[in-house]
Amino acid sequence: MLELLLKRLRINLKKMNSKRQAAAFRKKYNLKNINSSTLCETLGLQGYTVIEFNGIRDKKSVSDLIEVLHLGDQVSYSRCFTYRDNKYRLVFLHEDLNEEERIVALAHEEGHIWNRHMNRQSVIGEDVIEEFDANEFAHYLLSDSDGQKHRSILFALFFIIAVLILTISILFAVKKHSSAIYSENLYRTVNGTKYHLRNCMYIIDRTDVYRLTYEEFDSGIYEPCHACLPDQR
Ligand SMILES: [Zn+2]
Ligand SMILES: [Zn+2]
Repeated sequence: MLELLLKRLRINLKKMNSKRQAAAFRKKYNLKNINSSTLCETLGLQGYTVIEFNGIRDKKSVSDLIEVLHLGDQVSYSRCFTYRDNKYRLVFLHEDLNEEERIVALAHEEGHIWNRHMNRQSVIGEDVIEEFDANEFAHYLLSDSDGQKHRSILFALFFIIAVLILTISILFAVKKHSSAIYSENLYRTVNGTKYHLRNCMYIIDRTDVYRLTYEEFDSGIYEPCHACLPDQR
């Protein structure tokens, strides 16, 4: 009983926080009417580019980007997702979404960005709490405007889809360590098949150490070291 009350309390606190965050966001970007183009503009001010895709017949520039960033999986099962690394800040948006769906999807992604979920990983969607937070943020961001009832159904759908994607991506992650993200700070020895952080005990005193190139990283030959855990940095 007490546990249930505490759980309720925690959820309510989280909701209050989402409401505050949404209000702060509106205020900062002076957002009066929210539609897909004002949301795209605001994302632009935050350094994000919105990229439309369809996953089948994309422009070459878009399909190249998807390939280089290894987003094939995301593109095939997600309608909207955010990618961020040292070089890119991108929000991918499926062409087929209608205006109402775009608003909900972009507000949801904004929830991740504004709540700084993007600081921890490149692609979002692997954490149920973060999905909940992003949805609450989007809900409060949009709840001042029209079409509220209609949207709450979309929200519910979006949440279910997000959890489904989460399940799928966990299944994927088990098969291949999808947490591996290339960085220029990975190293290998001449004959070794592991990659390391530079201060790893196995390579710190060695001189035959080379930076792992992207091609080598991508080749599948090299595995993360079990001592320095370069994929969990
Ligand atoms: Zn999400
Ligand atoms: Zn190591």
